[in-house]
Amino acid sequence: MNNHSKTTAPLFNPGDRVRVIKTDERGTVGDISGGWIVVLIDGIEPGHGFRAADLERLDRCASFCDRKEIHAAEPNYDDGSCWSADQSTALNVEPFVMGMPIIFDIGAFREADNTESVVSLTTRSTGHYQGVDFKITADEARRIAASLVRAADLVEGDR
Ligand SMILES: [Zn+2]
Repeated sequence: MNNHSKTTAPLFNPGDRVRVIKTDERGTVGDISGGWIVVLIDGIEPGHGFRAADLERLDRCASFCDRKEIHAAEPNYDDGSCWSADQSTALNVEPFVMGMPIIFDIGAFREADNTESVVSLTTRSTGHYQGVDFKITADEARRIAASLVRAADLVEGDR
């Protein structure tokens, strides 16, 4: 092995989540032998052999993860997904359910298997309100946010 380089060669272990630098594909490390790292690319089988230099390890947690300590101590923790701290807003116009407002939670979310991060929107309430939960891309979130601002401007201009 060439140890003259200043940077330490990344070490990979079976189960690590990695990104293939050239193609931006993501996958999970399977077997490692003879300098070849077999990666099971998401959605594609069988595995493909790569050299360590072709791969970049993906951090266990998303940068925004609010559960980094739990995930570091217990990588296979029940809910292994990464969540940011939620931003919550109580909706006071309507409809209250069982006397309680509907709450709108917005946060960043990444599935445990390290796919793309998305924005998570959830409506919830106590009582019998049937909540709604959906995931949108960062771009969709920006467009919706811009639409909300435009609509808010219209409402305030009508006063
Ligand atoms: Zn995490």
